[in-house]
Amino acid sequence: MKESDSELKQGQIRFVLIHPTHPGNVGGVARAMKTMGVRQLTLVAPQVKLPNEEAIRRAAGAEDILYTADVHEDLDGAIKDCHLIIGTTARKRSIRWPQMTPEQAAEKLWDESRHGPVALLFGQERSGLANPEVERCHYLVRIPTNPDYSSLNLASAAQIMAYEVFLKRHSSLGTLQDVPRYADQESMHRFYRHLEEVLLDLDFPIARPPVILMRKLIRLFNRARLSEEELQILRGILSAVQQHVAKKS
Ligand code: SAH
Repeated sequence: MKESDSELKQGQIRFVLIHPTHPGNVGGVARAMKTMGVRQLTLVAPQVKLPNEEAIRRAAGAEDILYTADVHEDLDGAIKDCHLIIGTTARKRSIRWPQMTPEQAAEKLWDESRHGPVALLFGQERSGLANPEVERCHYLVRIPTNPDYSSLNLASAAQIMAYEVFLKRHSSLGTLQDVPRYADQESMHRFYRHLEEVLLDLDFPIARPPVILMRKLIRLFNRARLSEEELQILRGILSAVQQHVAKKS
């Protein structure tokens, strides 16, 4: 693969900052990204409004990343076209979710960015990722640290992840893994709504409360990583079940 192809592909790796509060951190992330050739920055409901002087100062020459950053009101809007979502977290979570090392995450992001946009999520400086944000993730990554002091600065975490992507990019030129076309987030959301609808049609006892069952199902399907074709098959089955229920009632 030519270097230019590889840069094009790397454009599909999106670093998503959720509710960042400090302009300096946003600038620091832009700098971290640019040093490693990652270009696509997305901010979700930032308290920092761009352009911001402090952010530009901390970007130190990487302000082009800030000027081209996308801003979204909510996370779903920021990742709806992504088929792989990986979340970064400083702490062990109370909800159990598949884990990866930074190196494994970089490899997955790199390999799968060939088929379209993929996202790496970073949580808010003080609170990290909230549970509904974790539920959007196929995997979580924790950068190994001193167990007694595990919380890195946002820009430092972004730097380490961007560096891992950079290493992967240079070690994998010409040796990409073959990966299927996975369904994107928007299609998965439509599928979850459809599934919930069918479970209700069937009087399936999901209301205890439904959010718990749906979280388990989302975790299952995130683990399975449905291809576009598999998702179509499941949607077809759900529709057939609905038609069958409608005929009987
Ligand atoms: N108390 C928060 C810390 C937030 S630090 C928490 O426990 O998650 C801000 C963000 O930086 C985190 O949400 C995460 O995206 C990233 N980060 C910080 N330390 C990290 C680590 N050791 N591994 C992976 N990501 C980390």
